[in-house]
Amino acid sequence: MLKTKKASLLMTTINQLNLKDKFKYLISISAIVIFSLSSIGFWRYSQFANHKTLIQNSSQKLLSELEGNFANSQLMGDIEADLTTFMQTGHPAVMAELTFKTQRLAGQLPDEAKESLLQFLNKIGKLEIRMESLRKNNDTALSAGTAIHKKLEDTKICAGNKTCLEEFHYAGEIFRTVQPLYITGILQTQTKEIQETRTEISQHLAELDGHLQKTIPSLPTAQSLSLTNLQELFYDFDDAITTVAAIRQRVIDSEHEVLSHSKTIKNLLAAASITQSQKAVDLAEQGLKLATSYVFLMFASLGVMTVLFLVLSSFMSRSIIAPLVVLVDLLKRFSYLLATVRRQAVAGGDQFKIIHSQIIKRKDEIGDVGRATKELMDHIQGISDFRRKIEDDTTTQEVYSRLATIFSEHLHLPSYIIYERSADNAMPIVYSEPHDITEFLPEFATADMCRAKRTGAVVSSFNDPEICKICPVNDMLNHYCVPMLVGGHVIGVIQFLLPIATNADQKKKMDTALNEARNYIEEALPVLQAKRFAAKLEEMATKDQLTGLYNRRYLEISLQQIVAGIKRRKSRMGILMCDMDFFKEVNDNHGHDAGDIVLSELAAILNKNVRSSDLVIRYGGEEFLILLNDIEDGTASLVADKLRSAVETYRFQIPGAEIQKTLSIGVAEYPDPTMSKGIWQIIKQADVALYNAKNGGRNQVVTFAKEMWEEQSY
Ligand code: GH3
Ligand code: MG
Ligand code: MG
Repeated sequence: MLKTKKASLLMTTINQLNLKDKFKYLISISAIVIFSLSSIGFWRYSQFANHKTLIQNSSQKLLSELEGNFANSQLMGDIEADLTTFMQTGHPAVMAELTFKTQRLAGQLPDEAKESLLQFLNKIGKLEIRMESLRKNNDTALSAGTAIHKKLEDTKICAGNKTCLEEFHYAGEIFRTVQPLYITGILQTQTKEIQETRTEISQHLAELDGHLQKTIPSLPTAQSLSLTNLQELFYDFDDAITTVAAIRQRVIDSEHEVLSHSKTIKNLLAAASITQSQKAVDLAEQGLKLATSYVFLMFASLGVMTVLFLVLSSFMSRSIIAPLVVLVDLLKRFSYLLATVRRQAVAGGDQFKIIHSQIIKRKDEIGDVGRATKELMDHIQGISDFRRKIEDDTTTQEVYSRLATIFSEHLHLPSYIIYERSADNAMPIVYSEPHDITEFLPEFATADMCRAKRTGAVVSSFNDPEICKICPVNDMLNHYCVPMLVGGHVIGVIQFLLPIATNADQKKKMDTALNEARNYIEEALPVLQAKRFAAKLEEMATKDQLTGLYNRRYLEISLQQIVAGIKRRKSRMGILMCDMDFFKEVNDNHGHDAGDIVLSELAAILNKNVRSSDLVIRYGGEEFLILLNDIEDGTASLVADKLRSAVETYRFQIPGAEIQKTLSIGVAEYPDPTMSKGIWQIIKQADVALYNAKNGGRNQVVTFAKEMWEEQSY
């Protein structure tokens, strides 16, 4: 819950950044993360690199140390072999070699091992001394043995004495028994057997001694002396054996000591190897750890970078790229639409609404563009709708009325006046809001009095209150006059009256509204001009150019409408058919132009002498039809006579002369008493009456009577 809140807060904050800031933050964060990871990675790598060198050096050292150890072990092996040889042979040369090698080995070893080796050397020395002593005593034993052997062969002394001979034999047997026992049991055997052999030899020798002790006294002196001599030789032999046995015992002890010490040294050498190897293993392990951490860190960095990249990409695509795509789509459609704006404004509008809804709430530049295009779109649509509507309108007045709706309801402009330039260069008001505002406004005798019309440029009192002298600018209102300029001609002016702005915001709003109003005015101008042309054409088709009166065509178009009005009001209409008497003479005597002047002045006389609600029509060449609206029964002939009399007294001014003419008038009234005749029949009646007036001598008014019809038809 809290996380979602935080995330949405973050999104809101992000949304409020503009694109430039978004990119700035994006690049900064990426740079910081990548820099941090690279720094840690580099640091770990440098550690690893240092360690690698350390391992390489250590391995190198270890290798040479192991080589040294191997050489030492080999030397130690040689020493052991020499030792064995020495122990077997007791040769001094071997001992010299052994001592030399041991001293050499001592020079190679670390201090603690050196100490042990010196002890070893010491023990070897002791062994050598014992061996030397053994050798000497063995020599003594051997000499004793040799003496006994010689003595035993000297049996001549017994000279046939059996007892003597037996004693010699017996002593010989004992000697042959003891001698091998001495060699195998003492010289060549191990500790336990030495003692046993020694005891066995002593027993044999004690037996012999006992035997001799008994025998010697019974023998002759020479024989007794010889045997005593033999007995003493055995004593020497026995002594020598005893000494050799004791020394041999010590030599064996010494050998054991030396061998065990050699084992200790070998162990020491092996231990040194193991310690060195262990060091190398430790270093390698540490290096492996560093390498692993570096590789891990590298992968972690890569992972973090990938995640960051994915997050950033998704953020970029969500926050920037996707809306940009929408925006581009929007602008694409927008440009197509602009090209065909008239036809598609409404249909395209819905598509725009969908696209706009995706980006319009954004706070960054994409949102700004979205809102601006929406505003523009609405504007185009509004203008386009307006344009279509006014094109379907029939009169300029309707167009003005639509403009007025836009001004009042959409743009909230309170007061405005539309002036339209007329053919006689006047500029009457054709529309105003509010209606009674016209009371306070100037009347332009000629359009040129208006500065906006004269200059064709907007005349505004916003910046210059004195700019237009004739405009009623007071402290309460500002004016803003827009000329309606079409093809270089000002066809009218629209004047906006606005309260004086009190602050910049208000002024800006007014400016915007006025600019928008000008857009609508510009859009309306071609339509207004077209409508004016159409009206002009209509007028040209229905009005007589010479007299300015409506012509017969107008009568044909509007007669039904006029009659409907009469019928609705249950009123009456007088129909006067007028014809100038002997008009041909004017042409004949004064020329056709003079005739035209007379005709146009006659039209003016006729117009002047009827009410404005009456209709004077140039019916033919010098024939005029007058429709008198809403007359009292029988009063038509009075009006007719008034006309006749006005013409009779009038002096027509023609070039070089002044002439007088008369007018004949036929009168009829609609509806007829029976109410059975159509309007065209009644006009015909007036024509019949005119015919009668001509026949009756001219310059007279004749009202239609039924009999005339009969005469006529007759
Ligand atoms: P009446 O008393 O019988 O009416 O005689 P009138 O001469 O007036 O009549 P008529 O119908 O014989 O002559 C009419 C003349 O008016 C004939 C024609 O040349 C002339 N007319 C018709 N239209 C015009 C016009 O627009 N200008 C001029 N100057 N003459 C015209
Ligand atoms: Mg005529
Ligand atoms: Mg005439």
